[in-house]
Amino acid sequence: MIKIHTNVVKKVSEENYRVKTIEVEHALEEALPGQFLMVWMPGVGERPMSIGNGYPLTMSVANVGKVSAAMTALRPGDMISYRGPFGKPFAVPKDAKRILVIGGGYGVVPLYFLAKRAKENDIGAVAVLGARAAKDIIYEKQLFAVCDEVFITTDDGSRGKKGTVMAEAEMLIRSKKFDCAYACGPEMMMKAVAQLCRQHGMPCQVSLERYMKCGMGVCGSCVVDGKTVCRDGPVFSGEEALAMGEFGKAHRDATGVLHER
Ligand SMILES: Cc1cc2nc3c(=O)[nH]c(=O)nc-3n(C[C@H](O)[C@H](O)[C@H](O)COP(=O)(O)OP(=O)(O)OC[C@H]3O[C@@H](n4cnc5c(N)ncnc54)[C@H](O)[C@@H]3O)c2cc1C
Repeated sequence: MIKIHTNVVKKVSEENYRVKTIEVEHALEEALPGQFLMVWMPGVGERPMSIGNGYPLTMSVANVGKVSAAMTALRPGDMISYRGPFGKPFAVPKDAKRILVIGGGYGVVPLYFLAKRAKENDIGAVAVLGARAAKDIIYEKQLFAVCDEVFITTDDGSRGKKGTVMAEAEMLIRSKKFDCAYACGPEMMMKAVAQLCRQHGMPCQVSLERYMKCGMGVCGSCVVDGKTVCRDGPVFSGEEALAMGEFGKAHRDATGVLHER
């Protein structure tokens, strides 16, 4: 059954110069970390958005185009409509003791929800948070609240360690035991994490982003190697993703045309 909701925006807060967090007056209790909603902005369009928290329902949106601009213009008291939750969530191994989350850009949003749920279930979480520069970092405070340790990296060295998330991820995988690693962010980063985990024989899950229209496996816009990212994913095991010819190489636009990355 498809659930369509319209509710009141309770709070809007600024994460950085282009990302806003929207809290909705709705306890979406069935939402699981890694799942997403199809958010509809009337007269503008509909886009998938990760769930950053189930109750209160929270999403964070980067202003990069039409729909995201309309979402970041929302104010407390406005109405917001969405369908879902959709998609396969992150899976945490039974009896897991500690997980590693590796996020870049707004990819950190579902990973925060995952780390928060882990903490509620007495599972430790360590985070590596990557961004281009200090001004791009989001969810730092939120991650510190739910993780045992948080490592920050920036491409230009303006915050934390200079470089990508990979050096910190490798150092952590070599020095501590994790039951699973979870990556969400730019696809090249997720590919590098999946390859690193393969080298170390460590389970890993990644969350893919593809152009989506229906969000529920009907239209085929987001198909990659015969799998719908919206219904079979967006979360895939690192091995499943590495077996996809398009992973880290290409993506389709709104009209279905394939573009090399
Ligand atoms: C499962 C899933 C979860 C997602 N979760 C989130 C989330 O939590 N927060 C969030 O902000 N977005 C998220 N997205 C991306 C979101 O669905 C839209 O793609 C994004 O908001 C752009 O839509 P738009 O209408 O604003 O831009 P459009 O008008 O469609 O695009 C305008 C321009 O922006 C470029 N553009 C499109 N997307 C991006 C991007 N992501 N980064 C940089 N440039 C881009 C396009 O190439 C185009 O040139 C998610 C996508 C998926 C598939």
